[in-house]
Amino acid sequence: MNNTSDEIKKRFELVRDQIDQAAQRSGRSSQAVNLLVVTKGQPAAVIRNCFAAGITQFGENYPEESVEKITALQGEPVHWHMIGHLQSRKAKIITEYFDMMHSVDRLSLAEKLNNLLMERNRILPIMLEMNVADEESKSGWNAAHKEAWDLIIPEIEKIQALSNLRILGLMTMPPFSANPEDSRPYFKKLVELGQYLERQVNGLQLSHLSMGTSEDFLVAVEEGATYVRIGRAILGPRPPKTTSL
Ligand SMILES: *Cc1c(COP(=O)(O)O)cnc(C)c1O
Repeated sequence: MNNTSDEIKKRFELVRDQIDQAAQRSGRSSQAVNLLVVTKGQPAAVIRNCFAAGITQFGENYPEESVEKITALQGEPVHWHMIGHLQSRKAKIITEYFDMMHSVDRLSLAEKLNNLLMERNRILPIMLEMNVADEESKSGWNAAHKEAWDLIIPEIEKIQALSNLRILGLMTMPPFSANPEDSRPYFKKLVELGQYLERQVNGLQLSHLSMGTSEDFLVAVEEGATYVRIGRAILGPRPPKTTSL
């Protein structure tokens, strides 16, 4: 794919228009939907072209890989969102380089992040990742069955009590499917889970939903997404993983 800044800008604007229309169709304000450009696997040169195209919100999956790219735009008014599963020993990179973490998927990780943030005197906004589809391979709290929802409550209460994390909402990644409609029931379930948790947990406000990728972002917006995470629809297929960056 030709990733000059002009080409990126065209595809970004096309996706943005589609999001705005989907928001309007479902009676939502298009301003309520943030578009993250997912740059995992893309080299720093592409990130610079994204910025030249006016893109300021990026999503990354792999902490080490992201640092070089974040550094490439250091000092620019951009925001970096961690959206991938994180090993605890890499938590420090998040507290140093990222503006938001969408993929907090266990209490121990939240505690680790909080300790590091306290040392840095920093507050980090986070989303809690929910596994609403019963996929063993997926990270996140097991939320596929409503019977399991109550088990999540004490863990959220503990995270809520951590001084340097702010819970903004929930995140999910449904099973891959070529048919975007297949994702709809999972998005609906995340919405329902969020409403349930808000009722059960004192003082909990889940104002954000991070859901929707290149495959299914229109459905996600219709169901209430406030962050969509889009890579390939804007930047084309990712370079093979073995390519050195
Ligand atoms: C890679 C990734 C995306 C973006 O996927 P595309 O198909 O490139 O749009 C979104 N969310 C997560 C968690 C991802 O890992």
